Amino acid sequence: MTLTTGRTTDLDRTRFFIDGRWVEPLGTGTHVALEAATGEPLGTAALGTDADIDAAVRAARRALDEGPWGRTTASERAAVLRRFTAALAARADATSTLVSRENGMPIGLSAAFNGAAPAGLLQMYADLIETTPLESVRPSPAGSTVVRREPVGVVGAITPWNYPQVLAVMKIAPALAAGCTVVLKPSPETALDGYVLGDAAAEAGLPPGVLNIVLAGRDAGAALVSHPLVDKIAFTGSTAAGRLIGAECGRSIRRCSLELGGKSAAVVLDDVDLDSFVAGLGAASFPNNGQTCTAQTRILAPRSRYAEIVDAVAGFADGMTVGDPLDPAVACGPMASEAQLERVLGYIELGRRSDARLVAGGGRPAGLDRGWFVRPTVFADVDNAERIAQEEIFGPVVTITPYDGDDEAIRLADASEYGLGGSVWTSDEERGLAIARRIRTGTIGINYYQQDLGAPFGGMKASGIGRELGPEALDGYLEFKSIYASAAQLDR
Ligand code: NAD
Repeated sequence: MTLTTGRTTDLDRTRFFIDGRWVEPLGTGTHVALEAATGEPLGTAALGTDADIDAAVRAARRALDEGPWGRTTASERAAVLRRFTAALAARADATSTLVSRENGMPIGLSAAFNGAAPAGLLQMYADLIETTPLESVRPSPAGSTVVRREPVGVVGAITPWNYPQVLAVMKIAPALAAGCTVVLKPSPETALDGYVLGDAAAEAGLPPGVLNIVLAGRDAGAALVSHPLVDKIAFTGSTAAGRLIGAECGRSIRRCSLELGGKSAAVVLDDVDLDSFVAGLGAASFPNNGQTCTAQTRILAPRSRYAEIVDAVAGFADGMTVGDPLDPAVACGPMASEAQLERVLGYIELGRRSDARLVAGGGRPAGLDRGWFVRPTVFADVDNAERIAQEEIFGPVVTITPYDGDDEAIRLADASEYGLGGSVWTSDEERGLAIARRIRTGTIGINYYQQDLGAPFGGMKASGIGRELGPEALDGYLEFKSIYASAAQLDR
């Protein structure tokens, strides 16, 4: 493989963005970021300690309680968010390239989710907050009640490595629009791109302390979750970490939203148009090399058309170009880290030792010896109770399970601890809608799967608690307050 040449980014990030300034770390930890396609060093980042997190939280608290942010109007905040939008949009190309180098995401997808979407979300919440009523008056038995919606307070945002920019801004944009302040703790696997948000915030003139960014590992992440001056944790990551974070937030009665793992089903109906299904398969089942929480990695196929569906899925996987994520012709880049590669290969080995039939892929691709590449892999004849059909693999590995009749398809789709994404493939959209309504999942597509940033997104069951995106996401960053007043308020 020849890697695209001429890549330039400012890669070493040895300071944190706290209180509107780039500050020296209080500890000595560093993290060397490696390029997913080569395994070679990409840059160095400082790793935060509990003390760095504490400094960031205190800055966020001051900005809210003493600084101007807590007293801004919605229009003033919208104006700041629009400047932030422009500063981020100007960096979109460089940011998407950087993320692809960090985590192996194909560049076209990265341009959409790490380039365009974050700026779009800031713009969307700037517009929304100006039209969202934050105070109303209603009659009460003693006079009137003024019902206000106030910012939740200081938000600790914790993000994973798979879609780092958009997942961060899915929290930051509604939080800032609502009047909260934020401490962002990105994941060490994508150590470098989070600070682009600091560059853009500084250029946009966000008041000091409104957005603070400290790269840190799990321990300092836990210090953010339990910090007494934090009012809410907005977490995206694994269900295992979500359980710990949710438990701590329960202990301290802290608000939290949890966007967690998934093992979603693509339900192929017996009237499917196979060409359309195959055309949508990459986005539905293999997005971001399978490193996507909503990936529909369990394909449920009707027994009446089972053989042709297995052939179609195997043919699609075999035909995916694996290689440099910066090459627009590449459909499947590398895994984000060596640990992720080992995890995926471990599950492929598990599949090989089960009764399932390997029909495509099955290990590392020939000729790609550097970096963390895996061949798109398909197992057919998989019992839905098998570990490869129940556990989140987070790589380009799908299973195919046969079923008889729509009721069994729905039962199998729901036979998972998760409920995050999904899809139904059919020539009859009404039939697809009827089935989509019956499956317990947070989002589901009919004949395609593409996230709609204007609609609420999140999981049922062990896939999480709460919703991000859409106007509904503002609710997670606003608290109701009722002020009992006299009837005179009704005449205001
Ligand atoms: P992870 O849970 O290991 O880490 C996520 C983030 O949480 C990282 O920043 C990590 O440092 C931090 N963290 C981990 N344990 C913590 C703790 N106890 N306290 C505080 N912080 C902690 O997940 P990952 O491997 O980075 O990401 C992959 C996972 O994220 C997958 O399970 C995927 O499904 C999930 N995910 C979910 C969504 C969604 O919207 N539902 C979106 C993307 C990814």
